[in-house]
Amino acid sequence: MKITEVCSIPIHCHGTAKRGIVKLATDEGYVGYGEVGETATEHLSALYVEGLVYPHWKNILLGKNPLNINQILRELWTGSLFAGRTGGALLSALSGVDFALIDLKGKILGIPGYQVVGGGFRQRIRIYQDTAGGATPHDYAKHGATAVQKGFDAIKYDLDVGYGVHRAEFGYDPYNEHVTNRELELMVEKVQAVRDTIGYDVDVAIDLHGRYNVPSAIRIAKALERFQLLWLEEPVPPENIVALREVKNATSIPICCGENLYSKWGFRDLLIMQAADIIMPDITQVGGILEGKRIADLADLYYIPVAPHNNCGPMATIAMAHLCAAIPNFLLLEWHGARIPDWDAIIHWDGPVISKGYLTLKDTPGLGYTLNEKEILKRNPEAEELFR
Ligand SMILES: [Mg+2]
Repeated sequence: MKITEVCSIPIHCHGTAKRGIVKLATDEGYVGYGEVGETATEHLSALYVEGLVYPHWKNILLGKNPLNINQILRELWTGSLFAGRTGGALLSALSGVDFALIDLKGKILGIPGYQVVGGGFRQRIRIYQDTAGGATPHDYAKHGATAVQKGFDAIKYDLDVGYGVHRAEFGYDPYNEHVTNRELELMVEKVQAVRDTIGYDVDVAIDLHGRYNVPSAIRIAKALERFQLLWLEEPVPPENIVALREVKNATSIPICCGENLYSKWGFRDLLIMQAADIIMPDITQVGGILEGKRIADLADLYYIPVAPHNNCGPMATIAMAHLCAAIPNFLLLEWHGARIPDWDAIIHWDGPVISKGYLTLKDTPGLGYTLNEKEILKRNPEAEELFR
């Protein structure tokens, strides 16, 4: 069997963000689909996947036996050294190809995606909702209560006010990454309001988006310790692992990091130095399900749990769930779609993809989704290629 068709189409599939869908088809009529993540925009996914620039991925893919996924992905990756293979858009595009290949192989063999990568520990995947905050502690509490009513037992809030101009709007220096007393006080008031409203049985994680310097990050962590948080995410910028370890060693709150790291090499130093308590690889950015599994296995060497970062559409979310099914050290998976009413409209699934805090994988071959042709064509009339 050979891959005989490769295409990628951009569509609006997550709010206003554009995502790509990769299609791989074979000479025996099998078709696999994958979603390309945020970093590979419309333009880039077309460049990399369609092979408009060197290294001509399309030419590498055509004629290959689709069952040899590792060999195919390695060849794409190896040939992309000078196109930026150490991070960013290229690895996002590669992840989309990984998803499509696993979907394809599952369909060819008649098994679900998590069986393609070694088999399942679970089919019900626990989901945490990325939850809106707001200007006031009351807003934070209100949104948390709504999430809990919908059946979530784990939620995450952003607690920083953004970067640069956003910090300036609050009267903070936009560049020095220093937390002011008033800013810190407001953070504590917000988390206090959440705990007062939803109690301590719900897991609460806090994201700081890498906005703070080391002493500020330590002050924030210490001030939040009494709230029994699930984790504190990216308290300092992600580039310096030693700085992150300083924060980790100074607080009892578990520190989570990884959404801005790429491939297993990106996680090497973080894991060897045990600079985080929990890792959150974004499977649409690390290189796909198979690379995600390697990262999870490396984390397992240090008994570190994995909670994948996810702000994607339904196809990539389901693809990530297959990885979550196939690793022992899975903790929970993010979901960013609560504020998007038609978040899962581009695929067919049995009911909503996320329900009462879980995503339940099916036994159907491949990744388990089928594309909603009508909905996709509505978002991009040029997507006909996906259905030919
Ligand atoms: Mg984050």
